[in-house]
Amino acid sequence: MENIGIAKPHGGKLVSRITKKDPSELFSISINTDLANDVENIADGIFSPLEGFLIQEDFEKVISRGRLANDLPWTVPIVLDVDKETATKMKDAGDVALNVEGKNFAILHVDDVYNFDKNAVTNGVYGTSDPKHPGVAKTINMKEFLVGGKIDYVKRPDETPIRRYRKTPLETRNFFENAGWKTIVAFQTRNVPHVAHEMLQKASLNTHDGLFVNPLVGKKKSGDYKDEVIVATYESLIEHYYPKNRCYLGTLHTEMRYAGPKEAIHHAIMRKNFGCTHIIIGRDHAGVGTYYDPFAAHKIFDLYPDIGIEPIFFPAFFYCRKCLSFASERNCPHGQEYQESLSGTKLRAMILDKQNPSEYMIRPEVSKVLMKWDNPFVD
Ligand SMILES: [Zn+2]
Repeated sequence: MENIGIAKPHGGKLVSRITKKDPSELFSISINTDLANDVENIADGIFSPLEGFLIQEDFEKVISRGRLANDLPWTVPIVLDVDKETATKMKDAGDVALNVEGKNFAILHVDDVYNFDKNAVTNGVYGTSDPKHPGVAKTINMKEFLVGGKIDYVKRPDETPIRRYRKTPLETRNFFENAGWKTIVAFQTRNVPHVAHEMLQKASLNTHDGLFVNPLVGKKKSGDYKDEVIVATYESLIEHYYPKNRCYLGTLHTEMRYAGPKEAIHHAIMRKNFGCTHIIIGRDHAGVGTYYDPFAAHKIFDLYPDIGIEPIFFPAFFYCRKCLSFASERNCPHGQEYQESLSGTKLRAMILDKQNPSEYMIRPEVSKVLMKWDNPFVD
């Protein structure tokens, strides 16, 4: 069932690649959980219009122009890398089973095998070739061949507490439609909710019908919050501080790429596929270290007037003791001496020290949940 009324999927049609085919007789290759997550995302249409791993023609346009060969916006390459020997075997086999830890879960119909220029990827996607950048480091470690082709998804992984929150675009679209929401704002996060984040989300609820809080779970870098911590703290925040009929929580299972502006576009496209009409793009969205201008992830949207989801740009919020409210540099003239603000680094130190942050920074209900973990961070 295709929903109309809310945002159309990217490319016009929601992809569905779920099948009952049997992969057990096929030549099978093992892939890691991050890639398996992305195969499931393709199958569910989260990556619409992609129906599989990129073929060379699309891959090269994504790297050089941030668009697929048919000109649709697409900025992050979704690819399968293999060594030369495996590439040859896959090409000969034609249809290949994909497995995680020996369990076949999908079929790849091999369409294209090609090698690629890692420097072009690092500069094109991450804007740097510095091996200290996590995305660059990952690219350097990739195998030398890419295999493109459509996938068919056969078997989902076992349920886990986190997977309970995994939503498909069909589920979110049905929910939004049943709720009667016409404008839906997506909020991407990989953090526990600060009160400043809550205020920013609520600012958008003043003028839009619903909020889709969509934490990204999956591989992250050391020092980021563990997935279960992000979900548990949001559950608590939503229970105590959000109107029941205005907010929906669902997880998105894909890895962080730390590609800054290019990833902001990718984040927007995925939320468009979930049925969102708007997405909040914050300061230094999907950035890492000081690789990106804090507002580069805003400016890049100028290049994509055809993206089909509207970005809402917010500056960073802080509490101002003189304004007596949450404010930003756009609407508050008072100096830093009046500001209660909290850097992620400072908060991390407080949590590990078991100190409760102030109520202007983290809600007490959320702090309580946070303090249950001896170490809520990825090692
Ligand atoms: Zn002020």
